[in-house]
Amino acid sequence: MAGIYIHVPFCSRFCNYCDFYSVKQTGRIGAYVESLLCEIEQRRDFFNNCNAKPTTLYIGGGTPSLLSNEQISRITEKVCSCFNIHSPQQFREFTVEVNPDDVTSDYLSALHLTGVNRLSMGIQSFDDDDLRWMNRRHDSAMAKEAYSTARHCGFDNISLDLIFGYNLLSEDKWIRNVETMISLKPEHISSYQLGIEKNTKLGAQFASGEYIPLPEDRSYLQYSILQRMLAGAGYIQYEISNFALPGFEAIHNSSYWDYSPYLGLGPSAHSFDGNKRSWNCSNIGKYISALQCGDSCSESELLTLNDKFNERVMLSLRKAEGLDIKAIKEMFPADDYNLFVRQLKFSLEKGLVIEDGNKIKIPSDKLFISDGIIRDLFI
Ligand code: SF4
Repeated sequence: MAGIYIHVPFCSRFCNYCDFYSVKQTGRIGAYVESLLCEIEQRRDFFNNCNAKPTTLYIGGGTPSLLSNEQISRITEKVCSCFNIHSPQQFREFTVEVNPDDVTSDYLSALHLTGVNRLSMGIQSFDDDDLRWMNRRHDSAMAKEAYSTARHCGFDNISLDLIFGYNLLSEDKWIRNVETMISLKPEHISSYQLGIEKNTKLGAQFASGEYIPLPEDRSYLQYSILQRMLAGAGYIQYEISNFALPGFEAIHNSSYWDYSPYLGLGPSAHSFDGNKRSWNCSNIGKYISALQCGDSCSESELLTLNDKFNERVMLSLRKAEGLDIKAIKEMFPADDYNLFVRQLKFSLEKGLVIEDGNKIKIPSDKLFISDGIIRDLFI
């Protein structure tokens, strides 16, 4: 299931924790769109070359909702014409990330008409003090209003994000956040532990001692609360950070975890064609000038068999359905597989992974520490 990702690298202000590539120079959006259209044209053979057909389109960022409806329409039309897609309605999933404070009824209705069939909204918290601390542009009331507007505009597949694991967040507050989330009944929920990244305001506050992270056992407790409450409300955890009502698992993101090809367009976007990984420069100025001169600003690396083995293990074990060990036995040399099986034996003995037919998976109560479990299985 191949997909297309478009990165819109603009934010009108930066959240204190975020290290995604983004700039505040919204005056460059027009030039960015022109360059993006050139890049789409330039890479029109991407899927032919890897024998795949894109079935999903995801416009993320940054803040895609800073683009006008007309700009999103032009981008969509260009994608369709270059990748032989009859109409945007043909995408099994067409998602746009929107910020709650950008959302109006006119804006969302026009997105719906363009063929967008799924919205992803970065709510992060329903507590106004925490939202201010994160430097988000919206408050809790705006988030609920935006969600209700999206429903009225016909969106029947909405994903909402929540963050846990930061030191302002008590368990009581977290339970209230999750209860509010459940009461809205979104089809999909993504929830991430707050990470401390170097080049962010939070990273600087951590380095100076101003921010003391929440102890890991408290983050684990919050994650367990999330799993328990969402399971009770009928959500299925299908990946470490993702929960969905039955039938609403994200198709686009699943293609990353299934190791399918994807094309990333826009500054800092990554692509994967089955053998090679490539990434665009994280610099809006260089991106605009390179593309307008008919050049590209991307670099790439060819993956070794070892890389492919480890990536498959990592991506599959993120998913609740786990890793098909019979399939990797058929795909990789016997020496690699045998080494993996020797390592796997220790993890099975310790109960860090469990067997289920041809698959191995990380039990639900160990998903919080999955990074370490997966690393120990690398060959
Ligand atoms: S979290 Fe989203 S809105 Fe906030 S800075 Fe990052 S990309 Fe921009």
